[in-house]
Amino acid sequence: MSAAPLLELDAVSRFYVSGTTVVRALDDCSLKIWAGEFVAIMGQSGSGKSTLMNVIGCLDRPTAGHYRVNGQDVASFDGDGLAELRRNTFGFIFQRYNLLANATAEENVEIPAVYAGLARDERRSRARELLVQLGLGERSHHRPTELSGGQQQRVAIARALMNDPPVILADEPTGALDSRSGLEVMALLKELHATGRTLILITHDEHIASQAERVIRLRDGRVIDGFDAVAPTTPRLPSAHRGGTPGLLPEILESTKMALRSLRVNFFRTALTLLGIVIGVASVVTMLAIGSGSTKKVMEQISAMGTNLLIARPGALGFRGGGDIVTMTPDDAEAMTEIPNVDLVLPERSSRYTARFGNLDYMTTVTGAWPSMPEMRDWALSAGSFFNDRDLAGYAPVTVLGSTVVKQLFPNDEDPIGRFVLLRNVPFEVIGVLAPKGASMFGSDQDDVVFIPLSTGLIRLFGGAHVHSITMKVADLTRIAETEQAITKLLRERHRIEDFSVRNMASMIEMATATQKTLTLLLGAVALISLIVGGIGVMNIMLVSVTERMREIGVRVATGARMRDIMLQFNTEAAVVCMIGGVIGVALGIGIGLLLRAFGIDVLFSPWPSVGAFASALVTGLVFGFLPARKAARLDPVVALASE
Ligand code: ADP
Ligand code: MG
Repeated sequence: MSAAPLLELDAVSRFYVSGTTVVRALDDCSLKIWAGEFVAIMGQSGSGKSTLMNVIGCLDRPTAGHYRVNGQDVASFDGDGLAELRRNTFGFIFQRYNLLANATAEENVEIPAVYAGLARDERRSRARELLVQLGLGERSHHRPTELSGGQQQRVAIARALMNDPPVILADEPTGALDSRSGLEVMALLKELHATGRTLILITHDEHIASQAERVIRLRDGRVIDGFDAVAPTTPRLPSAHRGGTPGLLPEILESTKMALRSLRVNFFRTALTLLGIVIGVASVVTMLAIGSGSTKKVMEQISAMGTNLLIARPGALGFRGGGDIVTMTPDDAEAMTEIPNVDLVLPERSSRYTARFGNLDYMTTVTGAWPSMPEMRDWALSAGSFFNDRDLAGYAPVTVLGSTVVKQLFPNDEDPIGRFVLLRNVPFEVIGVLAPKGASMFGSDQDDVVFIPLSTGLIRLFGGAHVHSITMKVADLTRIAETEQAITKLLRERHRIEDFSVRNMASMIEMATATQKTLTLLLGAVALISLIVGGIGVMNIMLVSVTERMREIGVRVATGARMRDIMLQFNTEAAVVCMIGGVIGVALGIGIGLLLRAFGIDVLFSPWPSVGAFASALVTGLVFGFLPARKAARLDPVVALASE
């Protein structure tokens, strides 16, 4: 005789407290069920049969007493342990089949194996094999609504057999069937018993009960007959357990598939839920594209005006008479070249003088400058070349003429290069002609100018050693303020008094940047609000969905799902909704942007708003899916299964 019974209830009670009354659904029940037995449980409605079945199947825990499976007290198992025990030991068959309406017969049968971590192909072939064995080979791709009651119950039996459990628990399996289907199902169950499985069957029907080896009778939660367990002479051992738990990735894939299915079933509702997320994401993408488009345009306009320039002039800011101050020199300019982020330095000194060629005189502005002038002003030459560092160092008497001056002094299209012009009666050789620039922003003729090396100018024309301005071009526009400070500091050290001013032409850029930041912040806030609204929508729908799908959750738990699996499933559903919304939103946002561009609005796309918006949508799904998922996972399986 084998040592321990397969299942043993030792003074088990299960009380329900409703209001002030205590319902003793099970009251001090002791039972032994041996491996391989066929036991029928009978009793009137409300006598505690289902409660007993739930306790046996580890869906419910006893209020008092001990329940042992294979000699182990179930009280010693945690949630995951119980899930594993259910998965490996019990196959449930319910009166109302409890198939998932959205899944095919085959997919329904597969469910317990999903939680047992069986590989997809293996799972599929086993499910198909079971359906063929049960005479449903042709029906494996049908949904429950396309099957008769008897067929649905056979699918449920196949599902119960999926993990090859040693114990089959059937709660009135023929109760909802016509008599012929009932007989078929009973024949199947008896076959299962014949192959060595322990069969525990709840029934109303004396005829069915009479086919069992033992009948346990319940009345008011107490066993009144059949508790005297007869140990079988040849103990039949339970079949090998299938172990293992699913990996996270296959489970996420499985959950995603389930999620897509349930979203498709509720297509209209899903579409409405998506709308919030789609609008949120699309608005982020479009608005930021418009924002950066306008920023780019403003920046381009500003840089065309030369705002990456800093100008140091003699005389304190706001005081007139800077012209009298003679302390700013080419040496200051030389020092500026050492300042980091200063790209180009251009000291200048100008005066109005008469230029003469042959018998033609023309009054123009003569500017002494450095060779950096063409690059600083972005000014190309139309002939010859600009003077270089050697000319500057050697006090070369050379000049480069603006196009207006050329027109005045060489009216007959002669080539001025190589000719000598007199500037204030000093001869200078023409070595280059500047390309025409046209009128300036303020209407003056920019081409009415003559450039000479600053060194030559100071010695031969202007007199004195001072300059009128030093223009500096910064390399990195974002650090212009810092560079301005460095220049001010250096000049202060060199001059010891504040006899100069440094003007920052980039202040306009700063203003534009500040405006842009405000705009971005505003857009971000709008986007965040719509995402939150969308997320609340998702949460709302998911909560409804959990309530609607109580039975599904109960079935999943009964077939061995852990809390984690249920959480994962509902969280995945929320995440999938939001991801779909994110993708549609990004596409829509780009589409609207392109449309606006076609209408001539400046739109600049960069990947980050799209990536960010999509990621926010996903995070929204995870955050707002958490509450419904937790609600689903915390459902009491007994309550879930009993729900309508
Ligand atoms: P049976 O399956 O034999 O019809 P049950 O096991 O379903 O009986 O119920 C036994 C008793 O426990 C009944 O009186 C029922 O009303 C009560 N009961 C069952 N489930 C609950 C519950 N969740 N809360 C309160 N009472 C319950
Ligand atoms: Mg019942």
